[in-house]
Amino acid sequence: MKKVVKFGGSSLASAQQFKKVGDIVRAEEDRRYVVPSAPGKRFNGDTKVTDMLYDCYASAEEGEDFKGKLKNIKARYDEIISGLGLELSLDSEFKTIEENFKKHAGENYAASRGEYLNGIIMADYLGFAFIDAAKVIFFKEDGTWDEERTKAVLGAELAKHDKVVIPGFYGSLPDGTVKTFSRGGSDITGSIVAQAVHADVYENWTDVSGFLIVDPRIIKDPVGIDTITYRELRELSYMGATVLHEDAIFPVRKEGIPINIRNTNAPEDNGTWIVESTCQKSKYIITGIAGKKGFCAINIEKDMMNSEIGFGRKVLNVFEDNGISFEHVPSGIDTMTVFVHQDEFMDKEQQVVTGIHRLAKPDTIDIEADLALIAVVGRGMKSTRGTAGRIFSALAHAKVNVKMIDQGSSELNIIIGVKNEDFEAAIEAIYNIFVVARI
Ligand code: ASP
Repeated sequence: MKKVVKFGGSSLASAQQFKKVGDIVRAEEDRRYVVPSAPGKRFNGDTKVTDMLYDCYASAEEGEDFKGKLKNIKARYDEIISGLGLELSLDSEFKTIEENFKKHAGENYAASRGEYLNGIIMADYLGFAFIDAAKVIFFKEDGTWDEERTKAVLGAELAKHDKVVIPGFYGSLPDGTVKTFSRGGSDITGSIVAQAVHADVYENWTDVSGFLIVDPRIIKDPVGIDTITYRELRELSYMGATVLHEDAIFPVRKEGIPINIRNTNAPEDNGTWIVESTCQKSKYIITGIAGKKGFCAINIEKDMMNSEIGFGRKVLNVFEDNGISFEHVPSGIDTMTVFVHQDEFMDKEQQVVTGIHRLAKPDTIDIEADLALIAVVGRGMKSTRGTAGRIFSALAHAKVNVKMIDQGSSELNIIIGVKNEDFEAAIEAIYNIFVVARI
């Protein structure tokens, strides 16, 4: 068995956290490929090393004295090194970093040092080999990940070692300069490494025991999700649930490698399995509920709209021309509604209204603001009758007025539109009916 284990910033924020990580890695021989993030927050209000690096580099770019800031960053690492009782010194590494900052080596280079240095410490602590991600993970000229080149080089390099540490978050461009993924990108590195070594499992260790059915800020102590499919996860994360970087799915999904989200602070918990497909029923009909506030609905009416060919296209063209993406377009016989993000739409609202009038000649256009969308997701809904009915009655009981309901053709999700102010009550009502009452 081969396991890739990625540890997030909070799992590596201090020597104490490093020790937990060490115990986890040593507990299983199969945990052979370790991908660390940069040290994260040690306590509420603390600053992540990545953010310290961005800030320090900004000072360097401004021509300010950045030495004090760099010293503070070094102190974070030295605290870990001494806490672990290692012999390691990062003095020469920090000298190089200082010189490169002076030469304005770039923001990406600066941010990547967080993972790079943590990788050096981790390799020393575990007694594993260290591979600099810049030498094995590649981006194309246009900034997108170069899958072919990475697979070839990374696969060959990893084959030379039994146990390795490879820092997350960055790689290099064709000219050799360092480039990072977007924030939270160490998840992607872990997935790429898992793909390259044909791992059996990609374990992603964080500070929660996997995914919860619903945001714990809305429902106190909600139940966890044991198993979720890639597609369900995509629906939920799109709607605001976050634990894993969205782009981390792609490389492992192609290889059919399952991801196991685990908690460094509670390694005995099984966490959540993210899989391609499963015959395991979730405990409840639904797998998860997620949602976002801040949508606008543009309601368009026109007599005989149903028989007018091209009406929808004309309307959507106006949104496209204004650079606004739409979320949902439920339609009736003579009505069509376009859901958009309020903040994207607000500044352009009158242009859009004029545009629709000009192009599609509707009878009326009515804008409704401050709406929320809630996604109820679950592979179990496909084979269960009456899910939508149950949602409706739960919402009616909670006195929540449903503005829109849209069931995806996959029967994997039902999207409900409500007023912003009803958002929490609606989620609670849905959670209660499916999870608490288990109807
Ligand atoms: N350290 C980087 C960040 O804070 C990448 C990561 O943690 O995944 O975004």
